[in-house]
Amino acid sequence: MIVTVTMNPSVDISYPVDILKIDDVNRVENVSKTAGGKGLNVSRVIKQMDGELIASGILGGSLGAYIIDQLNDENVPNRFLKIDKESRNCIAILHEGNQTEILESGPTLDGGEGDRYFKLFEKLIEEADVITISGSLPKGLSPNYYQRLLQKSHGKDVKILVDTSGEALKQTLLGDKKPFLIKPNTDELNALLEQETTFDIKGLKEALSNSLFDGVEAIVVSMGADGAFAKIQDTFYKISIPEIKVVNPVGSGDATIAGLAMGIDQELSWEEVLKIAMTTGMLNTMEERTGRINKANFKEYFNQVKVEKIKK
Ligand code: ATP
Repeated sequence: MIVTVTMNPSVDISYPVDILKIDDVNRVENVSKTAGGKGLNVSRVIKQMDGELIASGILGGSLGAYIIDQLNDENVPNRFLKIDKESRNCIAILHEGNQTEILESGPTLDGGEGDRYFKLFEKLIEEADVITISGSLPKGLSPNYYQRLLQKSHGKDVKILVDTSGEALKQTLLGDKKPFLIKPNTDELNALLEQETTFDIKGLKEALSNSLFDGVEAIVVSMGADGAFAKIQDTFYKISIPEIKVVNPVGSGDATIAGLAMGIDQELSWEEVLKIAMTTGMLNTMEERTGRINKANFKEYFNQVKVEKIKK
């Protein structure tokens, strides 16, 4: 069973307009409002792949209730910590081929709320084989909060995948308890290592051999249309994908995490796990809506992914 963690979920509002008029009134007809946040995209993809999961995290207020309603409508089992503060809206204005985003930072949590989530997380650990932790931390929680979640799994038979960036990722890696897997994209890897990596095999091998990654079982660098490069224990893999028609790539990293979690949960070989992850990522890019895939296409694209072991 997979548990997904989204600490700062949102109601994602999309406003399509022909032209965005500044300092004027813009009227919108086809508004869509969906439960958002990286971990919820992960959850949806796992659900569409018929995986067993519980979506978790922290939410509150009427927007929090809306998010729960949406998850229930989509039959995504969920167990969130409910707080007295209002969850956030994130607005995307789609205009003239552009996407202008207005992202609320969300509620500021206090230590008590953080501690209450630790308790819920400890219960979920008992039920989970794999846990995914995705996205940024809400304001008020310390940047090492994910590392503290990892420490709760000490001595437990659970694999934790962390997909975050910036200081939260750095603190996750600097702590005593290492995540089982991380999935930075190329920008996140550069920011983490404070360098401009050359994304060829030599550069990637060097980057992933950085001591910051010591103790992490799997580092999967996702590279958009270029597939991915991974270091699993001491072995490097180059993963190539076919050229596809992309409709909307947003959330493909989340779909990739969903595929990784599912393959790991099923205890498949790393080659299969990586192929599943690339396929769910690609399928997400082929749909208009974020965190959606057409499972009927799975086999066709899975068969076109190539995983190549790189000689030392
Ligand atoms: P996001 O932040 O939008 O969730 P990301 O930057 O974390 O995405 P990417 O590296 O862009 O993640 O994409 C993850 C995976 O999705 C890729 O490894 C690939 O399998 C698939 N993918 C993404 N973009 C493309 C593309 N343009 N063509 C084909 N596959 C893609």
